[in-house]
Amino acid sequence: MTDQNTYRWGHSRRFNSYAEHFRQMFGTRVQKISVDAGFTCPNRDGTIGTGGCTFCSNDAFNPSYCLPQKPIRQQVIEGIEFHRKRYRRAKQYLVYFQAYSNTYKPLAELKTLYREALECEGVIGLVIGTRPDLVDAELIAYLQTLREYTYVILEFGVESVYDSSLKLVNRGHDFAASKNAINLAAAAGIPCGAHLIFGLPGETRKQMLDSASIISALPLTTIKFHQLQLFKNTVMGTEYLKNPGEFSLFSLDEYIRFVVSYTEQLNPDIVIERFAGEVPPRFLVSPSWGPLRYDNLVRMIEQEMELQDTWQGKYHHC
Ligand code: SF4
Repeated sequence: MTDQNTYRWGHSRRFNSYAEHFRQMFGTRVQKISVDAGFTCPNRDGTIGTGGCTFCSNDAFNPSYCLPQKPIRQQVIEGIEFHRKRYRRAKQYLVYFQAYSNTYKPLAELKTLYREALECEGVIGLVIGTRPDLVDAELIAYLQTLREYTYVILEFGVESVYDSSLKLVNRGHDFAASKNAINLAAAAGIPCGAHLIFGLPGETRKQMLDSASIISALPLTTIKFHQLQLFKNTVMGTEYLKNPGEFSLFSLDEYIRFVVSYTEQLNPDIVIERFAGEVPPRFLVSPSWGPLRYDNLVRMIEQEMELQDTWQGKYHHC
């Protein structure tokens, strides 16, 4: 803490919060609007693999207004309307290219899609979710030109720092691919986010915690954590139903304590966008944490931090 009420990220919450980060950067609340631009994924179409990552269910995350048949502009307008009911204060939006791998088309097509999103009223930037093996120098150079007048962040599915886990879930790339992509983009001035899953089969809790120092050393702007959730109609969901003993899923209490320990080892400069995943129960096989809203979960995590008098980066060593 720099004084009694403020941590080094400039506010009093015990972690470097995404909402506060954007409030500081743009002076107002910024809302992400998901779109499905009809991308697929090289780990599904046979280019790298078929069947995809064994945990993957894009249906579980895609909001109902996101349909690839609809033009981007229409999805953005409907998305703004959808969120307006919940977050009336938001007047500025980031379009989130979320479903599948959103850099997996020729650059000319990507430019058309990204431009269509940026031309929508109230849109101040893009969040582009993709695999780390789907960025190259040409794409980065284009994103650099966009960065001259708008906000752009690349969000990479890193999932784990351990190659054995990545192999086990049929990810189709290793951790070096994530490191290279993040370094390439960050060196060009493109902010990078990472998505991590806690609880993958074969990883001990200690290995997961140890990964905090590896993640902390990457030039990341934001991070999202997800507890391993097993979805219906996925390879992993089916494996779980056959052999539940092979999995060590987090209970809610254990996860809260785990994620607090992880956060206190995490580089305090990395903005935490998400502590856990939240999907409609109808998609879920396990674990069930009951009717818990994400906002309440964050409150519980912050209460645990207070109880332990800890904060993000307390045990981070540069
Ligand atoms: S998680 Fe991402 S990379 Fe893996 S199959 Fe799904 S869309 Fe493809």
